[in-house]
Amino acid sequence: MGDSFFIDKYGRQIGNLRLSVTDRCNFRCIYCLPDENVTFLKQQHLLTFDEIIRLVKIFSRHGVKKVRLTGGEPTMRPKLCELIQRIKNETEIEKISITTNGSRLKELAKPLKKAGISTVNISLDTLDPEKFKKITQRNYFKNVIEGIEEAVRVGFDQVKINVVAMRNINFEDAAKLVSFGIERGIIVRFIELMPFKGNNWEKENMVTMDELIEKLRETFDLTPINKNDPSQTALEYMINEDPSKRVGFIASVTRSFCQWCNRVRITADGHLRPCLHNPFEVDLKAPIRNGASDEELEKIIQNAIWQKSRGHPDFLSTKFELPSEDKPMMKIGG
Ligand code: SAM
Ligand code: SF4
Repeated sequence: MGDSFFIDKYGRQIGNLRLSVTDRCNFRCIYCLPDENVTFLKQQHLLTFDEIIRLVKIFSRHGVKKVRLTGGEPTMRPKLCELIQRIKNETEIEKISITTNGSRLKELAKPLKKAGISTVNISLDTLDPEKFKKITQRNYFKNVIEGIEEAVRVGFDQVKINVVAMRNINFEDAAKLVSFGIERGIIVRFIELMPFKGNNWEKENMVTMDELIEKLRETFDLTPINKNDPSQTALEYMINEDPSKRVGFIASVTRSFCQWCNRVRITADGHLRPCLHNPFEVDLKAPIRNGASDEELEKIIQNAIWQKSRGHPDFLSTKFELPSEDKPMMKIGG
C-alpha cells in the first residue's frame, strides 16, 4: 500500500471503485432509462484507457482493492479486454469484476476471464422470453441465457444473477429464477427497485425483500446467513439447509446499507460520484486534460470523497422527491 486512505467525514474508508466504461447500452430496461430518447456521450468525452489507468492507480495507492466495471453496458466499450488486462498488469487492484446484461457473454466470457475478470454479475429479470422483451425492450433473451451458460462453463470465481423485482411484472417469477440459479450453482440476488430520474418509480411497483422472502418460502426453506463483510450489499439466505445454495437480497430501499458503504463511482465521462443517490459529482477529466499532477488529482478526489453523503433519503417517505437535475442509472453507472 502506498499513501493514506481515501476517507469520508463519517470515517468510511473507500475500498471499492465502480468504473463506468461507457454510457451506451444495447438494452432499454424500463427501470433504468428515461422514457424519452436517450443520447449518448461522444467518444471524446469518454475517459481514455490511459486516463482510466491513471485514476485506478491513484485509487489503488489509497486503499482501493476492488474495481467493478459497469455502464451502460460495459461490453459495448471497444477493446474492453485490453483495459482489463491493463488494470491487472499495471495497478495494485486485487479483484476486477463486471456487471453486464449478458448479451455478449457467449463470445466474451472466455476473453474476459483471460484478461483478468474474476466475478461476473449478470442481469436477468425473468425466464419468460416475452416478459424479457417487455422489460428490456429488446429481443436478446436467448443471447443472455447462452451468455450465462458460457460464463458458468468458463469457470469464473463467481457468477451471480441480478434480478430487479417489480410488482405485476416479474414478482411471480422469483422462485423459477432461484431454481435456475441452483441448477447452475450460481447465486441469484434480488434488488429492490430504486428511484432514478425518468424511471417512473412508484413505491407500489417496488417489491420489498420481506415480500420476496415470504414468496420464496412457499417453495424453499430459507435460513439467514451472517454477513462476513458489513460493506457487502446483499443479505444472503441459505436454501434448504444446503450451504452451497444461496439467495441474496439487495434491499437498498427497505434496509439501507449506507452506513457501511465503501464505494465510489467514476462515470463514463470522468466524474467522481461519491454516492449513487446524490447528484453531487466532481469532474476529474477536465483537470487530467488540463495537466493536473497526481498530487492535485488526489486532493480533488479526497475533497470529493469527504463530502460523500451519510446516506440516501428515505425513498418511502411521503416527503421524498427526486433531485430534478440528476441522471438516470445508466448514465451514473450501476
Ligand atoms: N448493463 C449492465 C447490467 O444491466 O447489468 C450494467 C449496468 S446496470 C445500470 C447495473 C445494475 O443496476 C443492473 O443489475 C441493473 O439491474 C441495476 N438497476 C438498474 N436500474 C435499477 C433500478 N431502478 N433499481 C434497482 N436496480 C437497478
Ligand atoms: Fe442497459 Fe443495464 Fe440499464 Fe438494462 S440495466 S438498460 S442493460 S444499463
